[in-house]
Amino acid sequence: MKLITLKAGRDKSAIRRHPWIFSGAIDEVSGNPEFGDSVEVYAYNGDFLGIAAYSPSSQIRARFWTFFEKAEINESFFEEKIEKAIALRESRGFSITDPLSAFRLIYAENDGIPGCIIDKYGEYFSVEILAAGPEKHREIIYKVLAEKTNCRGIYERCDSDVRKKEGMEKREGVVYGNVPETPVPMEENGIRFLIDIRNGHKTGYYLDQRDARKRIGELSNQKKVLNCFCYTGGFGLFALKGNASHVYQVDVSKSALKIAKELLVENKLPTAKATHTEADVFQYLRKCRDKGETFDLIVLDPPKFVEAKDHLQKGARGYKDINLLAMKLLSPNGMLATFSCSGLMDMALFQKIIADAAADAKKELQIIERFGQPADHPVSLAFPEGQYLKGLLVQLKN
Ligand code: SAH
Repeated sequence: MKLITLKAGRDKSAIRRHPWIFSGAIDEVSGNPEFGDSVEVYAYNGDFLGIAAYSPSSQIRARFWTFFEKAEINESFFEEKIEKAIALRESRGFSITDPLSAFRLIYAENDGIPGCIIDKYGEYFSVEILAAGPEKHREIIYKVLAEKTNCRGIYERCDSDVRKKEGMEKREGVVYGNVPETPVPMEENGIRFLIDIRNGHKTGYYLDQRDARKRIGELSNQKKVLNCFCYTGGFGLFALKGNASHVYQVDVSKSALKIAKELLVENKLPTAKATHTEADVFQYLRKCRDKGETFDLIVLDPPKFVEAKDHLQKGARGYKDINLLAMKLLSPNGMLATFSCSGLMDMALFQKIIADAAADAKKELQIIERFGQPADHPVSLAFPEGQYLKGLLVQLKN
């Protein structure tokens, strides 16, 4: 039998149903489990804690599949997980059968398949695997996903550097049906998007900003909007739909900007009211400052600045710098929607950084709204690590 026994006193997080077992918490491993194998987990006193997937080379040495329950990790196990995730998404207003809907169906630990992300883009799924357990069982997962959803194709986007920590190579490709070479259509709150599942960022798109994009659209009427780190234009498209007077879309990615322009036409939005600039946002903001430009609404949705705990200070400086620059560009009553997708930085710290930026910019601002993750990116109470995205909508007071 393959099993893990935890050190004395190291069973508390498992009892609270936290899904990770760190290597330092393990007293003994027996039965020679290999990569992705299921192991029974016991507390030091012999209490059974659950079944976990073993990951020999990761600091997170095992991730729980079940708590206090013995189960085979097989087809019916994944059927249950995927059926449950579909039911939960449907109950939150997402339609699994709509050929144009797009949402996260499986959010890893939070949906009971640790290390596995499954995103729906129209009639296709894009999957990212980041841990040994789902890696070992991936063929069953794809079979079940195809059966439960009648999708046309499944694409593996297993190309993240994080895989190295689990001892896994990068891998990409079609694993079921067909996935077109060209971007696939989907709709988000009435705007049509084209998702490049093969080459786009993450699994193809940033589904996690859906609610914030909608809200920015509602706030954009008659406003001059600057959308920094625009990717394929999302916030800007919603701003134009919401009758913005002009939208400035800025990103370093030429290919993302190309799609952003195509999406304007695709959505019959006024192309004359949009300007696309390929630039580094830090430099772009400084140029605007030097020219004395102002904006009524600025969106700052940068990539993750904090990749590891020892990057926290450097990342904090990055957030402060761009926010400080942006605050100086706000017109009277101007608004700034500012985000951080660094999971290692919590809302309290992020708010403090924004407050520091305001103090240095010598501006008085008010928080008028807070943003988090949408309902397809749920956070298990037992797993606060599931929370990574946060945002503040602040407004210039005087
Ligand atoms: N707001 C987007 C998602 C932004 S993701 C949406 O709603 O879909 C972050 C984006 O920042 C990526 O498109 C990336 O190309 C871009 N980026 C990263 N570093 C940048 C920099 N220094 N200047 C400009 N863009 C940058």
